[in-house]
Parts: sequence; structure tokens; C-alpha cells
Amino acid sequence: MSSTLTRSATPDGVRHDAAPPRRRTRILALPEARWAAAALALFLTALPLHLLGAPAWSWGPLFALTYVTGGWEPGWAGLQALKDKTLDVDLLMVVAALGAAAIGQVLDGALLIVIFATSGALEAIATARTADSVRSLLDLAPTTATRLTDDGVEEEVPTGQLRVGDTVLVRPGERIGADGRVLDGASDVDQATITGEPLPVAKEAGDEVFAGTLNGTGALRVEVERDPSDSVIARIVAMVEEASETKAPTQLFIEKVEQRYSLGMVVATLALFAVPLLFGAAVQPTLLRAMTFMIVASPCAVVLATMPPLLSAIANAGRHGVLIKSAVVMERLGQIDQVALDKTGTLTEGTPQVTDVRPLTTGLSEEGLLTLAAAAEHPSEHPLARAVVDAARTRGLDIPLATDFASTPGTGVTATVGGQAVAIGSPARLLNGRDGRAERHAAALAEQLAEHGRTVVLVEVDGAPVGALGIADRLRTEAAATVTALGALTGTAPVLITGDNPRAAAHLAAEVGITDVRAGLLPQEKVSAVRELEAAGGRVLVVGDGVNDAPALAAAHTGIAMGRAGSDLALEAADAVIVRDELATVPAAVALSRRARHLVVQNLVIAAAFITALVIWDLAGTLPLPLGVAGHEGSTVIVGLNGLRLLADTAWKRARDDNGR
Ligand code: ADP
Ligand code: MG
Repeated sequence: MSSTLTRSATPDGVRHDAAPPRRRTRILALPEARWAAAALALFLTALPLHLLGAPAWSWGPLFALTYVTGGWEPGWAGLQALKDKTLDVDLLMVVAALGAAAIGQVLDGALLIVIFATSGALEAIATARTADSVRSLLDLAPTTATRLTDDGVEEEVPTGQLRVGDTVLVRPGERIGADGRVLDGASDVDQATITGEPLPVAKEAGDEVFAGTLNGTGALRVEVERDPSDSVIARIVAMVEEASETKAPTQLFIEKVEQRYSLGMVVATLALFAVPLLFGAAVQPTLLRAMTFMIVASPCAVVLATMPPLLSAIANAGRHGVLIKSAVVMERLGQIDQVALDKTGTLTEGTPQVTDVRPLTTGLSEEGLLTLAAAAEHPSEHPLARAVVDAARTRGLDIPLATDFASTPGTGVTATVGGQAVAIGSPARLLNGRDGRAERHAAALAEQLAEHGRTVVLVEVDGAPVGALGIADRLRTEAAATVTALGALTGTAPVLITGDNPRAAAHLAAEVGITDVRAGLLPQEKVSAVRELEAAGGRVLVVGDGVNDAPALAAAHTGIAMGRAGSDLALEAADAVIVRDELATVPAAVALSRRARHLVVQNLVIAAAFITALVIWDLAGTLPLPLGVAGHEGSTVIVGLNGLRLLADTAWKRARDDNGR
């Protein structure tokens, strides 16, 4: 039914501002279900009376009430829609039922109303279930947490009042109240609500924990790292809600066509009625045939073909840590046929370590060099900057305050430290063709470090190189497998696009099995690289994390940002976000999107097949009205339920294990 469908596309039951909702909407709490139940009860009471030949006054009023209870809502909504010059399919159904009653087919009309109301209720239930599955995530987040004050006093506070930096105590068996990091204690945490992973995960000091997950037998002290409104679980819910309010292009197209189709259908119905009459056909069978035509030709199932699979897939991906920002994205993601991956923070963990500290000038110690570098890097969000600052901290160095900080994505940063102008960043960019003695010396050192697969940053003071740092990052454990899976899925080998030096890039590419490497790229050059791939006919998926990836994420057919380490700009520019940084979910999300697209097509075929078969049957032979009604409503329900299959956990598992078949 088109009107119920538009409602299901923007589930109005999903708001959370009110009191915490129940986990599961009870069926009879839905008005659609109550009216349908009433219509069904009335119909079942009247039916035996009618069949047994009881006098009309006994069953007539009951049938009349059946029409009213089952038909008033869609009829009213349809009339409202007419005011906006939209022809609602629901209205046609009600008209058909009234028409049947008018020619004495009271029973058939009532049956139509009852089945119609019931399938409307089923849809409402399915929609509510989709909303529930998302909402239940939020409900799992506990409402209070035990906060520890600075002097060690415990206090019970609402989780909404927790702030970043607070320490909370999580007792055995409690749900964790916020996203954070374990300060001390050890326990097993059941993260199934967020990751779908059934086995508890061991947690100890330094590990990350998520709001809404269930603590096992140990006690943990956790430092809150994310504002409650920003927790993984809250973001999943917000994004799924936003996504459910968007419409996929296929849906928009269908709705546009539906209007013309419905009008054409009404004209055809009138013709089917009027033309035979002109040639002297009997009124009653002619009207019956015309009405049956109107029912079976209605595009209810077509309208319901697109959004349920896409929304179900979005909800499912969200449960597994992939936030797809809209139905449009869910439809596009499956179209990609090539992947471009960023290096630092995407294929690598993004928690690099400084491995080499090499002063170039006599009189500058390793500590001195590191102190200068850390001071300049301190305000930067870049993973390399964090590595430099951490290295200085680990060595117990005091980091002086820097002023005039400025950063150039893909190149490096500059700042004033103790009156000196410090620049730190990519050797190739900083030296940029300068050819003094010190510069040649610096270039040779950078070359030597790069030889060992290091990312190299050069440190300059007042325009002269004073040293270099070698930095290494660990490859993500799933990097190689993900590259293989993406290659198999798209049929094209993934490409590496990085701002790092060619040697470090080649080193890493060899480890993960990438042969097409584009290194030393500035942010806009990453865009050009993507454009080039797309010009060659590819639809490119870019996966990245940094500010320097944001333009490419926005320019690509689809962009996915790594959520945990990712910069806010990247999260903003991307179409989807990998919340928990599990790179392996990228191919799974692509496969799930393909599955959703596949179901959309399957649904359209089912819908079209039913409509065609029933229309031909009605025009060429005699299709009994009840059978037409059952076939039509049946196909609508089948299509609706078919889409909801993607809500199941097995759908995700299958997508994850799908290697491009
Ligand atoms: P990737 O594309 O691999 O994520 P980036 O484009 O962010 O890498 O960085 C490219 C290069 O620019 C780095 O290898 C480094 O040499 C330099 N660079 C960028 N930002 C910084 C920074 N904050 N500190 C030091 N070097 C930087
Ligand atoms: Mg990066």
C-alpha cells in the first residue's frame, strides 16, 4: 500500500526524546493492528450468518461495520492525499470494495477490506520491528553509572551527565555506561550488542570498552573517552534514523512513475467498465471485472520493493559498526568496482611509533630534537604528530608551548617554539628542490630511513634542516585479507593512495599485496588520482581516515572513513563510517549493499510478475474477485517480508563470507 509505505520509509515511531521506550512494540499498540483486528473479528462473525442464509438484517450491519473499521483510515488518508493532487493506491482499494458492495458483492468487498487492513497492519508491524531493532540498541545503554570522584568517593549519576575524563566503576555483571578506556581491573566483556560477536572479549588496562556492552565477572575502572551523546551506540542510532529519512533514487523514480501509472490505471478501469457497456454487456459482471482489474493492477508491491531491503541493510550494517549515512549510499556502495585505500591510519593501525631520532647538527641532542618536534606537533591531530608527542612523553621530556601553529594537510606543520620557527613534515615537500649542503645531507638521511620502510619526517629550524625522525606503524592484522577480499569482490586490484614517501609506501604495499602504488600525494592529488581511476571507467570507493583524505572521500563515488582514529573532517566528508575501525567490515558492507540491490530487483520482478499474471487472467478469463484480492495482497506481503530478511544476523555473516562470488 503506497501510503503505509511512505510511512514505513520514514518510521515515525523511532524518536527517542520521550521516556525510554519498550524494547518491543506490542502488536496491539499499533493503531493499524487494532483496526485490522476489529475488522477481522466483525467479518468472522458475519461470515457464518451470511453463508448459512440468515436474514440480511443479522449480517448486513456487521459487514457495514467491517467496511468502516477496516477502511476508514486508508480512505481518509487517501482523500487527504487527493488534496495534494496525489492519487493514493489505498484510496483505489477502498473504492473497489465499496463498488463491490454496490453491485451486491458485499462479502467480496468485505473480504477485500479485511485482507487489505490485515496486510496494512503486517507492514506496520514490520516497520515497527525495524525501528525496534535499532531502538533496542539504545535501550541497552544503562541509565545510571557509578562515578568516582577525585577523592575516591562513589556517586551514582545518570549516564547522560558523564563527561570525557570522568572515571567510572563498572561492577561485575553491569552494563558499561560510556565509551572509554580501562584504567585498571580485568574482565571479560560481552560486546554482542555492538559487534554481534557472541564470545566475550578479555579487557584489561588500556583496552577500549563501549557503552551498552555487558561486563563479565571482573570489576573495571574506566575513563570516559566519549561524550554519551557521541558514543558509538548513540551515533549508530542517530545515523540509522537519518538514513531512514532519505530516499533511494530507485524509490524516488518509482514514486514518480507510480503517479502516472495510477492515473492510467483509473482511466483503464473506467474504460473497462464503459466500453463493454456500450456494446450491451451486462452491468454487474462488467463492473466486477473492471474492479478486479483495478485491484490487481495496483502497484502496492512495486512501491514496497525498494526501501525495506535498503533500510534493513542499513540497520544491520549499523549493528556491526558500519554507519551508512543514507539509503542513497546503501544503493551506491554496491556499485563500486575499484577501491583506493589510504595508508596511514587505514591500512596501518594509525598508532605509529617513533623508531629513529637523528639530529643532523652538532650541538643538538636526540632529546633536544624530539622536544622541538613534539612542541610543534602538539596541537596537530595527525597520527604522526601523536607518535612524536608520545615519544617525547615516554622519554620524560618537558614539552614547551608552541605558538603560531599552522598545518598543511599532506605536508606537515609549522609553529614557533621558544622564538624559533620550527617546521616538521615530509622531507620531499620541505626540501622541495633546495640543494644546499645541509639539505643534501638531510635528503640522504631521509633516504636511508625510508630504505627501512620508515615514514620520515624532517625537522627544520628557521628554514634549515636540523634532524629527521623515523616512524613506523603496525599493519592492521586484517589489512592483507581485506585487500584480497576487496580485489575479489570488485574484480579489480585495489590501489594505494598515500602522502607518505614512495619507499615506505612500496614496503607496505608489498606486505598487503597491492601493486598499484601512488605515493607522495597531496590531498588534491589524491582527488586527481581518484578522478583518473573514474575517468578510466571505474566507480571508486575511497577508504581513508585523515584530513588529507577528506577531499578524496568527497570526490569518490563512495567514501568510507575509519571512525576511531578518523578526523572529524573525514567523518563528515565520507558517505559511511567504520565506527570500530575494523577494516574487514568494508568488504562485508559492500557485499551487503549488493545483496540489498539484488533484493530490490528480485522484489520488483515478483511484484511485476504478480501484476502481469493477475491482470492477464482478469482480462482474458474470469478472475474471481477474492482470488484477485488474495493474490494482490499476498504479493505485497511477500515483497515486504523479503526485504526484511536483510535484518537478520545471518545476512551480515553471509556478506562477510562473500568473496566476490
Ligand atoms: P597518508 O596519506 O599516508 O595518510 P598524509 O597525507 O597524512 O599520509 O601525510 C603525508 C606525509 O606528510 C607524511 O608521511 C609526513 O611526512 C607528512 N606529514 C603530514 N602531516 C604531518 C604532521 N602533522 N607531522 C609530520 N609530518 C606530517
Ligand atoms: Mg591517513
